[in-house]
Amino acid sequence: MVETRIIDGKAFAEKLRKRVASEVTAFHAATGVTPGLAVVLVGEDPASSVYVRNKGKQTVEAGMASIEHKLPASTTQAELLALIATLNTEKEVHGILVQLPLPGHIDAQAVLSTIDPAKDVDGFHVVNAGRLAVGIDALVPCTPLGCVMLLKDALGSLAGLEAVVVGRSNIVGKPLAQLLLREDCTVTIAHSRTRDLPEVCRRADILIGAVGRPEMIRGDWIKPGATVIDVGINRITGPNGKHRLVGDVAFEEAQGIAGAITPVPGGVGPMTIACLLANTLTAAKRQVGS
Ligand code: NDP
Repeated sequence: MVETRIIDGKAFAEKLRKRVASEVTAFHAATGVTPGLAVVLVGEDPASSVYVRNKGKQTVEAGMASIEHKLPASTTQAELLALIATLNTEKEVHGILVQLPLPGHIDAQAVLSTIDPAKDVDGFHVVNAGRLAVGIDALVPCTPLGCVMLLKDALGSLAGLEAVVVGRSNIVGKPLAQLLLREDCTVTIAHSRTRDLPEVCRRADILIGAVGRPEMIRGDWIKPGATVIDVGINRITGPNGKHRLVGDVAFEEAQGIAGAITPVPGGVGPMTIACLLANTLTAAKRQVGS
């Protein structure tokens, strides 16, 4: 039985935000430029509204400009594309983020493809996905970037480790697998058609849950001493009728087996906005050429 360390993503994210804030100050002193992040929200999805509010608040706290565009759910795709085209040309906008999900009548891929790759701080444009895949400088999706930062902080070098990523979405699983490959891990991507998933997971020195199924990954799927990163955010109703958040990993069962694990909430979640701020600063530096 090992003692399982809880990886404190909240504390790490706070340190990262402070580091970004001090770099923003230095960048502004050297160039006179304030990095600007434009966030576009279409419709009134309550969860998206909360995310956008938090992003705006933390952007300003980091010394950057937050430019919010809140559009009605009835906005047409053409209107949204026109707004993005304008933001692409605005000098004070260094990062553009379109909050997903978009209303059903809008093709998200068409929208993401319209963002200038240099301003694509979410890292979802095919140009950035391609650059990541071939190993050249890219803007990298925020949640996977946060996962790798936590892993490197917990383990130091990741070279040679067996990593199993459960989930193959374009926003989490695939880019995370690319980043782990970049760190010289031996990477397996598992998904809904993977045969004998528990056995595949048991190979992992680094096990990532990015599925969106509450507590699907059980304690006995975890290799003793493995580092577990739980990306899943699932709202469940407890026996008392109250809602609570759980991850994709059965957290209690992982105790005493995993070497380290991220909790939900307070693990990967807070890293996402912190990495968005870091990406916005990176984008601004590249655009200004500093
Ligand atoms: P998607 O629904 O896009 O992808 C889920 C993936 O899980 C798919 O690749 C799917 O496989 C796989 N999957 C589904 N069921 C199984 C199964 N039974 N066994 C194995 N694999 C399975 O989700 P996202 O990647 O967008 O998000 C995953 C989770 O991460 C969600 O809980 C989401 O809320 C959370 N999340 C958290 C963030 C954060 O800030 N912390 C940010 C983004 C997401 P297949 O491709 O075969 O269908």
